[in-house]
Amino acid sequence: MQGTHGNASLEKINSPFPLNLFRKNGLWFLIHGDQTVSQRISILPEIITNKIAAGEVVERPASVIKELIENSLDAAATSVDVEIASGGKRLIRITDNGHGMSREDALLSLERHATSKIKSDSDLEGILTLGFRGEALPSIASVSRVRLATRESDNPEGTEVIVEGGKVRDVKACGMAPGTSISVEQIFFNTPARLKFMKSAETETGHVGDVVTRMAVSRPDVAFTCTSDGRELLRVQRSDLQRRLAQVIGKNSSEQLYRVDNCATQLSVSGYVSAPSLVRSGMQAMFTYINGRFVRDKVVQHAIMQAYRGVIDRGRYPVVALFIQLPAGEVDVNVHPTKHEVRFRQQSVVHDAIQKAVEDVLRESPWLENKPRPPHPSTGPTGQAYRERIAAAAQASLDMARRPLYPPQTGTTAFAPSEESRPSPPAHGAPADAVSVRESGEPFQSGPGPGYFSSLTIIGQFHAEYILCQSGPDLVIIDQHAASERVAYQRLKLQYLGGAVESQCLLFPETIELSFSEVAVAGRFHDDLSRIGFVLEPFGGNTLIITAVPRLVAGHDPIRLIRDLLADLSQLGTSSAFQDVLDGLFSRIACHSVVRGVHPLETRQIAELLRSMDETDFAASCPHGRPVSHVVTLAELEKIFKRT
Ligand code: ADP
Ligand code: MG
Repeated sequence: MQGTHGNASLEKINSPFPLNLFRKNGLWFLIHGDQTVSQRISILPEIITNKIAAGEVVERPASVIKELIENSLDAAATSVDVEIASGGKRLIRITDNGHGMSREDALLSLERHATSKIKSDSDLEGILTLGFRGEALPSIASVSRVRLATRESDNPEGTEVIVEGGKVRDVKACGMAPGTSISVEQIFFNTPARLKFMKSAETETGHVGDVVTRMAVSRPDVAFTCTSDGRELLRVQRSDLQRRLAQVIGKNSSEQLYRVDNCATQLSVSGYVSAPSLVRSGMQAMFTYINGRFVRDKVVQHAIMQAYRGVIDRGRYPVVALFIQLPAGEVDVNVHPTKHEVRFRQQSVVHDAIQKAVEDVLRESPWLENKPRPPHPSTGPTGQAYRERIAAAAQASLDMARRPLYPPQTGTTAFAPSEESRPSPPAHGAPADAVSVRESGEPFQSGPGPGYFSSLTIIGQFHAEYILCQSGPDLVIIDQHAASERVAYQRLKLQYLGGAVESQCLLFPETIELSFSEVAVAGRFHDDLSRIGFVLEPFGGNTLIITAVPRLVAGHDPIRLIRDLLADLSQLGTSSAFQDVLDGLFSRIACHSVVRGVHPLETRQIAELLRSMDETDFAASCPHGRPVSHVVTLAELEKIFKRT
C-alpha cells in the first residue's frame, strides 16, 4: 500500500496499533491515525537531497572529474580522456572505452542510490570497486547540465540522455564508439553559493591536473589524456608504474625513487619512495593508495613520515607512490562521501607494516652504501643505530646539497664566508662547544662604529652558533643565524621598497618540475615573483626554468626555495593580494639565504655582521619572532657565582 507525504511516496506497513508505520529509503515514519504528528517536518524531494549530497561529493570541477574517472575505471576502461574548458567551470568531458550502459541503466544511473557495484548490506564489507554509493552521477546532474552518452559493445547504437539541474530533458539513440562519454556544463549554475567559491580557471585547472595525475599514477595500465582549453596537459600511454611516475613527476625526480616491494598475503606495501634528497614542502607528491583508491589518510601519512624521521628536515615531505593492499574486510572506505579517508580494522598493524616497508628501503638504498651495517639485526629498523645511521647519511647528502650555501663573499650576504676563508678545524680537535677566541687570544674591537652592535667588543664564538660580545660590564649573546636572517630580511624589504629586489642571473639555469597546481600558482604570480627577483619561464610540460634569483640567495638551492614560496602562495585566497604575504615571503627567502646550525666565523666576519645589524632597521627578533640577542648583566653573573 502506498501513502503520500509531501512530495515523497511512502510504503505503508500494516500495524495492529492505531498508529500507521511508513517506510522510505530504509527510514521508518510513525504517523498517528491519518494525521501526521507534526506538520512542520516533511521529507525533502529527491531533487533537493541530491543537491545536498552534491555539497559533499562535488566541491569543484576536480571532484567531478575524480568521480567520473572512478566510474570509467570501474567500467574496466583502458583509456580515459579528460577535456576541460575554463578550468572545468564551462565544460568537463570524460570519455572512456569501458563497458558502457544499456538505455535502462543509463537512466537508472542518474537516480540517487542507483549503483551496479553493490547489491546487499554484506557487499559493503568487501568493496572492490572505487564507487559504491550511487551518489556521484545524480549529485553532479543536480548542479549542472549533463549529457551522458553511452554504448555497450554488443549494442549497435548508444543512448544519449540530457539532464538539467537534475531533471531528465531528453533521451534518444545516438551513434558512438563503445564506452561512455559524460559532458558536464556550467557546473553550479543553480547553486550560486558554490559558484562563488570557485577559483580562477588557472587554479581550477591546477586541481584538475592534480586529480588526473593521482588517477594516472594509480593505474599505469590505463592510458590517460587531459586537455585544457585545447592545450594538452597530460598524455600517458599504458605502461608500468616506474615509467608512469617518470612521466608525471618528471624524469629527474623519478631517478631518485627507490622501489618498495613488501608483499605479504594479508597486507602488501609496494611502490616507490624518494631518497632524502628529493623532498617537497607539502604533501602534494605523496601518492598513497589503499586497495587502488587514492587516500589522504593520517595513519598512512604518519607511518611514512615516521620512516623518514631524522632523515629529512622537519616541514619537508618525501615523494612517494605507495600502494597498500589489504583484504577488503580490513578497511572501511565508507567514512566520507569523497572516500579520501578510511578506517582500518587493525590500525597499528597497517601503520607498522608501512613504516617498516619504507624503512627497509631507506636502510638499504645506495646513499648508504659506504656506511657500516647495523651491528645486530635486533637493533631493528626502528632501533637507535638505524636512526643514527640514517641521520648521518641524510646529513651527508644534505651537506652535499648545501655546499653552495657557502658562496664566495659577494658583499651582499651578511657574513657568509667563502670556502677558502672558512677557518680550518683546530688540528687537535677542540670541542665544538668550547668558546673559540680569536687567533691572538685578544678580544677584538670591531672598530669605531656609530651603532650599538658595532660598538660591542667581540669575545668570540660559542658552539659555532652564537656570538659572544661585551657591552660595558655586560655579556651580549647573539644568535648568529637569527641575526643574519634578520639582516637579509631587512635588505630584501629595503630593496623592494626602493623599486626592485636585486636579482642575479644563474650561470647555469636550473629546471624545476612542478605539480599542476604549483604551475598554476607560478603562472598566477609570475610578475610578482619577478619583482622580488625570481625569473621563472615555462620549459615544456610542468617544468619551469629558473633563470634568476634574488642576489641574496644566489649560490643557495633555488629549487627548494621556489617550492616553498609556491607552497606559501598557494595558501593565498582569490581575494587576497601578493602584498599580503610579502613579509612572509621575505622571511622565507631570508631564511634560505643564511647558513643554519654550526658555522664557524672569523672575527672579521663577526664584525661585519655586527656592522650590518646596525645598518638595517634592526629589531630585537628575527623575522620569525625568535630573539636575536640576549644580555646577561654582570650583576646576574655575580649572583650566579654568589659574589654578591
Ligand atoms: P557508483 O559509482 O557509486 O555506483 P555513480 O553515481 O557514480 O555511483 O554511478 C552510478 C552507476 O552508473 C554506476 O554504478 C555504474 O553502473 C554506472 N556508470 C557510471 N559511469 C559509468 C561509466 N563511465 N561506464 C559504465 N557505467 C557507468
Ligand atoms: Mg561512481
